[in-house]
Amino acid sequence: MQDGPELSGAAGSDRAYVTLVTNEAYLPGAVALVRSLRLSGTAADIVVMHTGAVGPEALAPLGELGARLALCELLPTSEAFNAAHARGEIHGRNPFTKGGKPAFHTPLDNFVKLRLWQLEDYARVVFIDADALVLRNCDRFFAYPEFSAAPNVYEGLVDFRRMNSGVFTARPDAKTFAAMLERLDTPGAFWKRTDQTFLQTFFPDWNGLTVYDNMLQYVWFNLPELWDWSMIRVLHFQYEKPWQANHPKSEQLAPLIALWRAYYTGTGVPEDIAALPPPA
Ligand code: UDP
Ligand code: MN
Repeated sequence: MQDGPELSGAAGSDRAYVTLVTNEAYLPGAVALVRSLRLSGTAADIVVMHTGAVGPEALAPLGELGARLALCELLPTSEAFNAAHARGEIHGRNPFTKGGKPAFHTPLDNFVKLRLWQLEDYARVVFIDADALVLRNCDRFFAYPEFSAAPNVYEGLVDFRRMNSGVFTARPDAKTFAAMLERLDTPGAFWKRTDQTFLQTFFPDWNGLTVYDNMLQYVWFNLPELWDWSMIRVLHFQYEKPWQANHPKSEQLAPLIALWRAYYTGTGVPEDIAALPPPA
């Protein structure tokens, strides 16, 4: 097995929020997320796992926001596994019909999330995708058991039993990581929605976070009656990213994109999220 992540600095807590950036295309997301975590007033550490593909200059803003950087290798998966989870295969075998994925999304990279189980400096971890914003303090998640995640609800209420892997709780443990690697890459393995399918299979008895703990941006137009600014803890920009220029849904999602931009730039972050206007 390869060595685990190489961390900068020292742990300041036994709890950490962790995100992942495997290429520079996701960096704006991480900057906005880390700033939002800072503004949430958490005392936990913030760790950004990254692969060698992102240079030190690009990562500097994250360090300035007080994040610890964790240099990670891709998982030591087989050629066959890597080929099966290449972008063309994932999109070809099960096309995304409900929303668009940016060209810079590399499905195989998603599995690097599993390396957070190697972060044994921390007793408890909350993982959050780099395309999300923390709108109010989430430290209560650290008290929730491994493995807790929110439902993948953005189209209809029938999806409450499906899981979304953009926000989840975990307890780092090298033994769990080793068990995952063993389970992940078996002959013929194909995880249709990558880490999400894998984690839901590995933790079949996953505990439920609420929809407000990982509110998916499409709820804004598909299920507006679920939207409640006073309840949302994490806003997750699944599918198209708010930093993609003129994506097909940018007009519909304009208020959410403006909010993301405020966190990204650090200017114009609303004082009172609960007072924001609801979907039209
Ligand atoms: N990710 C990454 N590089 C990639 C693909 C994914 O760093 O090429 C990380 C990033 O943290 C991202 C997460 O894995 O937020 C999951 O991918 P994404 O959020 O694009 O998937 P979606 O939420 O749209 O299903
Ligand atoms: Mn995401």
